[in-house]
Amino acid sequence: MKLVMMTRSPNLYSHQRLKEAAEARGHTLDMINTLRCTMNIASRRPEIWYEGRKLPQYDAVIPRIGASITFYGLAVLRQFEMMGVYPLNESVAIGRSRDKLRSMQLLARDGIGLPVTTFAHDPKQAEEVVRMAGGAPVVIKLLEGTQGIGVVLADTERSAKSVIEAFRGADVNILVQEYIKEAGGTDIRALVVGGKVVAAMQRTGAEGEFRSNLHRGGSAKPIKISPEERSTAIRAAKSMGLNVCGVDMLRSNHGPVVMEVNSSPGLEGVEQATGIDIAGKIIEFVEKNAREGATKTKGK
Ligand code: ADP
Ligand code: GLU
Repeated sequence: MKLVMMTRSPNLYSHQRLKEAAEARGHTLDMINTLRCTMNIASRRPEIWYEGRKLPQYDAVIPRIGASITFYGLAVLRQFEMMGVYPLNESVAIGRSRDKLRSMQLLARDGIGLPVTTFAHDPKQAEEVVRMAGGAPVVIKLLEGTQGIGVVLADTERSAKSVIEAFRGADVNILVQEYIKEAGGTDIRALVVGGKVVAAMQRTGAEGEFRSNLHRGGSAKPIKISPEERSTAIRAAKSMGLNVCGVDMLRSNHGPVVMEVNSSPGLEGVEQATGIDIAGKIIEFVEKNAREGATKTKGK
């Protein structure tokens, strides 16, 4: 197969591993800088140009679109889809997963366990929002945050109210969530590939930190997840329409709750913690599924 990866950082561990895994199986994988792609939106002849030449017809595209370039990246991915190229994850599904609120609405509709979450526009409703989330302590999150940045734990009603007001003053969207204290600063990341959990790790935050993101100094170890956690991760992936994703869950008193579904999961932490060849499993999935025009959504 002729594969292409959209990425601005070809040297990242995850991207190098995917390239190695593709080549080990006899495929080629070109890496292209998403922002250097130019699209020709001509009738019936969708094309992508890159560094002065028209890109060839690929069998599949692996999107690794950074959060900060979601708009342009999804446009390029849609163009690939218009050209009949099979996307590892579809543009529409990635678009859904980039919006925390939209994701949670979809997961809630499908009956997947979530922390009690509230969303409001008017800061005057701060008290009500905190009350609806079960009262302090609550977790307040920037809708567009990643890697734990913009996730705040407010211990008291008063601090919750001032954090909400501060975020509002900055004109950003936030959601307010029940704090799952019993998770004890750890979360579970389950890697789903093609409707199966292929690996799972437990992440624990640095000392005194309730956020367990590896980018925030957290550490990872392999974990055996329960059947309920497994099915929650699989259902979350399905609900978002993602073939490959990382599902972040907390162990709450009321069962596993999903915090977010990441459409470009990092492979380094989880491959190192578990020793599982996840890149290989992703390429195998592409081999089994990439067919021309097999995109369900056609970018719509
Ligand atoms: P990001 O998308 O920026 O990583 P998350 O929503 O995943 O933000 O939150 C970052 C971390 O904060 C999580 O990995 C988890 O450890 C912790 N966390 C987030 N929400 C809650 C919550 N409702 N209760 C307890 N811990 C939480
Ligand atoms: N970018 C990493 C991922 O998508 C974040 C890992 C982390 O900090 O927890 O998996």
